[in-house]
Amino acid sequence: GVFSKAERAALGALLDYLCLSQAGGSPKLSPPRQVVEGAVLAVDPATRASLEIDRTLSGSRKGSLLDAIDRTVTAPGARCLAERLGRPLTDIAVINARLDAVGFFVTSADTRRICRDRLRAAGDAERALSRLLLGRGGPRDMKALSAALEEGAALASAVQGAPLSAPPLNIQRNIEALTLDDKPELAALLTDLERAVIDEPPLLARDGGFVAEGWRPELDETRGLRDESRRVVAGLQQTYAEASGVAALKVKHNNVLGYFVEVTAKNGDALMGNEAFIHRQTMANAVRFTTTELAKLEAKISSAGERALAMEIDVFNGLRDRVEAQAEPIRASSHALAELDVATALAEWSVETDACRPVIDESCRFAVEGGRHPVVEIALERSGEGRFTPNDCALDGAGGAAPRLMLVTGPNMAGKSTYLRQNALMLMLAQSGCHVPARAAHIGIADRLYSRVGAADDLARGRSTFMAEMIETAAILNQATERSFVILDEIGRGTSTFDGLSIAWSAAEHLHGVNQCRALFATHYHELTRLIDEMDGAANWSLKAREWKGELVFLHEVGPGAADRSYGIEVARRAGLPPVAIKRAQVILDRLEAEGAPAAALAELPLFAALEPAVERGPSAVEMRLADIDPDGLAPREALELLYALKSIAEKA
Ligand code: ATP
Repeated sequence: GVFSKAERAALGALLDYLCLSQAGGSPKLSPPRQVVEGAVLAVDPATRASLEIDRTLSGSRKGSLLDAIDRTVTAPGARCLAERLGRPLTDIAVINARLDAVGFFVTSADTRRICRDRLRAAGDAERALSRLLLGRGGPRDMKALSAALEEGAALASAVQGAPLSAPPLNIQRNIEALTLDDKPELAALLTDLERAVIDEPPLLARDGGFVAEGWRPELDETRGLRDESRRVVAGLQQTYAEASGVAALKVKHNNVLGYFVEVTAKNGDALMGNEAFIHRQTMANAVRFTTTELAKLEAKISSAGERALAMEIDVFNGLRDRVEAQAEPIRASSHALAELDVATALAEWSVETDACRPVIDESCRFAVEGGRHPVVEIALERSGEGRFTPNDCALDGAGGAAPRLMLVTGPNMAGKSTYLRQNALMLMLAQSGCHVPARAAHIGIADRLYSRVGAADDLARGRSTFMAEMIETAAILNQATERSFVILDEIGRGTSTFDGLSIAWSAAEHLHGVNQCRALFATHYHELTRLIDEMDGAANWSLKAREWKGELVFLHEVGPGAADRSYGIEVARRAGLPPVAIKRAQVILDRLEAEGAPAAALAELPLFAALEPAVERGPSAVEMRLADIDPDGLAPREALELLYALKSIAEKA
């Protein structure tokens, strides 16, 4: 191919690394392929981390998107799915081809089940092949290859024989890679691997004992010789015992003496005078002898063993050379198995969670009906805290059918972040070729996906919380195009109220007017809702909550219109802040709200201690009771009773 200087430099560096790490060996490499710029959805590391694609912010796989949707049954399938989610596409034809494959297995449940059973038995041929090609493989890797090739061929004929409409193109290609009918050399290799290697071989070829009986007559013969000699040795124990009259005589083996005769110290003299027994060792409890007969047998056994091992290694090398010659079709076949694993697994997940096939096109639409967050939904189900409330979302970058920017307000804990993320994940899943957790979805291809959710320090790289937030926001405002999809959650909260509000305000304006991308913008700065009303391509949406019997009930429903309050103090109370702090917060809030313009209120708000007298109210019941008391005149018991009385007055108040 034609590669740029930078690409050639990168390839050179990779090759150099391989030479270094493979100790001079030269592994068989596939030719390099160029990833065309723009062929994948650009997702920067901050977005990837914040959307918790393959691991959560705390670093575990559990709780990630991948963990929630992964139903693969083989290691190569799991790797392939992770790779797809890691690099969603922008090519509609390729995405649709993947969706066709998933759809095929959604509708044909029986074929899906048969395929998954076959896949389970297929194992990991990819790794086995690379180990063999690198000269690090063993007999078990050969067995893994033969299992995968065999299961693959069976899977291919099961799909071909299924009484269904013709499978889509991607699956047909996979089936072609798996079938052995038109690959006589590979088929012959499979037959030979199956016949030559025993069912449960040892890990390493150098240990021997893996070539099946009947594969090489001369190997069987040599093994027979070795085993026969061992039997003769075993028989000699009886002969020597009778000849020496020592019934307890034993023939044993160790690496120093080879085969030897051992008797107890008491019986040692009985053999000492006998010429046939050559004394070798006297120990505390035993005396050891060798015989010329044993020495000869020893030589015979070890040379037969060595010859047998050499033959086994020869068989192994011969098979390995044939595997190497067939590396390409084997690689294609294991890749096909991985793809089929992904397609069947995604179909399984789709059926299980009632997901749907998204409609993908060139438009700038993003219309989701009844969308759900795949991870939060599972968490709610598991904890028994209730059901996930599905929500719609409608955006249109062109501004015709829907706004392009949606400002999402609502109380704390109402589900704003969840809503933003579920829509970003929906886009990511759709462009990876997966079904999406919704009733229906129409998604216009995005070129870049940006997510700024939550604040996190990046102190190791010298960035404070706010700096990290601003760097990510800068990337979005500088790079997002009309085709991009952006979610911004609580931008500007890491600094003072007015600084934050101003930044959030200008960011919303910039996204709407300059970037003109599809964007979901969640905020607690309710001042922004008025700004949105004046913008053509923007709309206010909010998460609903109701006050019921003095309690706040979250409905988790998104609908048009702005929220009026954040109910932060209510959430703080639920979280267990001390009642006194909650009361105090309420007083400050009332005061701030009464002042109208927050600027004036903030400037004039007295300190904690000074505020109290400013609140106009008469003396409380407790204060009145306290006024009547002379502490010096109270007995300890009276004081205690009084304390209880005061507490009960305060609780009633
Ligand atoms: P804050 O403004 O405090 O950051 P938030 O509005 O962003 O809050 P989330 O963090 O998205 O709220 O959601 C809070 C919790 O509400 C979630 O952990 C989840 O348990 C629940 N929740 C969110 N969305 C839904 C939904 N659609 N259906 C059911 N429960 C939901």
